Amino acid sequence: MIKKGISVSSGLGLAKAYKYLESKADVSPLLVYDSKNQLTKLNEALNKAEVEILEAKKIAKDIMSDDEAHIFDAHLAILRDPYFLKEVVDLIEIGHYASYSYKVVTDKYIKELRKVEDEYLMERSVDINDVYKKVMYFLNARSRNPIILTEPSVLVVEDLTPSDTIGLEFKYVSAIVSERGGKTSHAAIIARTLGIPSVTGIRINSIENGDLLLVDGRYGTVSINPTEDELVEYSYFMDRIQSKEERLEKYKKEHTATLDGHKIKLGVNISHHDEMEHIKFAEGVGLFRTEFLFMSSKDIPSLEAQVKSYEAVLSANKDELQVIRTLDVGGDKGLTYISVKKEDNPFLGQRAIRLSLANKQLFITQLKALLLANKWGNLAIMLPMISTLEEVLEAKELLENVKKTLIKQGHDIKPYQLGIMVEVPIVALALEDIITEIDFVSIGSNDLIQYLFAADRMNEEVAYLYQPHHPALLKLIKKVVEVSHKYNKWVGVCGEMAGTKESALVLLGLGVDELSMGYNSILEIRELIAHTKYEEAKEFVEELFKLRSNDEVLKRIAQKLQEIENRIIK
Ligand code: PEP
Ligand code: MG
Repeated sequence: MIKKGISVSSGLGLAKAYKYLESKADVSPLLVYDSKNQLTKLNEALNKAEVEILEAKKIAKDIMSDDEAHIFDAHLAILRDPYFLKEVVDLIEIGHYASYSYKVVTDKYIKELRKVEDEYLMERSVDINDVYKKVMYFLNARSRNPIILTEPSVLVVEDLTPSDTIGLEFKYVSAIVSERGGKTSHAAIIARTLGIPSVTGIRINSIENGDLLLVDGRYGTVSINPTEDELVEYSYFMDRIQSKEERLEKYKKEHTATLDGHKIKLGVNISHHDEMEHIKFAEGVGLFRTEFLFMSSKDIPSLEAQVKSYEAVLSANKDELQVIRTLDVGGDKGLTYISVKKEDNPFLGQRAIRLSLANKQLFITQLKALLLANKWGNLAIMLPMISTLEEVLEAKELLENVKKTLIKQGHDIKPYQLGIMVEVPIVALALEDIITEIDFVSIGSNDLIQYLFAADRMNEEVAYLYQPHHPALLKLIKKVVEVSHKYNKWVGVCGEMAGTKESALVLLGLGVDELSMGYNSILEIRELIAHTKYEEAKEFVEELFKLRSNDEVLKRIAQKLQEIENRIIK
């Protein structure tokens, strides 16, 4: 049986299914064996809710009146009401889930209060409901066990969060099949970076644990218990991959240049400092996503731990610039140890630089670690998700202060570059006012496209709006390149599009100076560029500007790529 989904990462994978289902809190009246565990869950949820209420109270006190702040005293009283909690605990002790028990008792209290014709008591039911929502949020917080693989498997998941991937033994992941998640979700990026075939948008209830799965990341299909013919096609494809790898061998030693000698850098995107293998064939690191260091530790990584991590990357290749991005959490990447309010639209919320500027001590420690680690290399600091000039100025001032303090303490601070990511559309439009404050820009096309098209990059229902070939986007990138070059600043692209042949060709023609991508795309993009003239790519882009849609552009690119590929295999 073949199922059709959305292609996330190309390649073919064949292995048995390992189905990973997250455990969710249950509000059904089922009985559980482990009441103790449920009591612990309840206590943890109550403690977390208490922290949140206390914080809300403090904010209310600071910016509103004492009266407003007292509402939260009422919430605290409800949260710790001994009679209420005794009823919840009684239900848990006879074997019910904590979430179910909490819901039953809350419903009972609210029902009783609503019966009384007293405005004050009616209002208390609103408070109880508020507290209920908070506690249930923490009770329902998805408790995910680690994914443990011991043999090559196709990982079958509802969705894969970046934190699920921490500690995952990727060498055993032959492919990933998921029900939810867009093309540029961070789990998808990790799959692509590691060259793991991946398909999303597949209803996973049709797959049983242990089914043999043939995952075709090129067309987004999953064959469950494939036929003989499909298996023959699979081995034919694997042979072709083998011969392509042999052909690409020579590009490991070359720098990237077009047929007519125009140079462009191919950087690598990494998520962890131990990816040295991945740095080897790149012309520098174009994007080090430092948040994975933060996400894999239980608390803010110490200054020493950060210096060690950045040093490992900076010293890997002292001749090349290594672009290290400051913390980009929020959106689909959370940190358990920083209290961030639950947001309705986390991708539009306190993410990336916004969170760093709101947590200055954390940001300052990271900046300090970066400047100290630069002793071993050639550092470029990159600020994610910048929206305004003021954010750049504030970050710059903090960086200057950190630098001065370190110099005062006797450290020798080497020169470094400071750049921003162009991900928020307004920055692309207002770049002329920001560019003089920085040394470079790197276009984060994953987010730039998400925000230009107003289409959540995690949502497969709107995945069709991920349109990296849209002529208007290409014109916007051209504008970013022109403004940057006018002020002699370099421009990179480090979103996923940079590592596809289709976009690499176009970005070359748009005059971009650096493309940064998953390591397994580097050699084939270098080969493509080596068979293209710069003038030819520039003229080609002018032709694309006359077209009107992503599809029209993509069709034309496919013809052009065929022409270039004929030169390659001639
Ligand atoms: C981007 O948005 O294109 C980018 C490179 O950053 P991230 O994917 O980590 O958000
Ligand atoms: Mg981004």
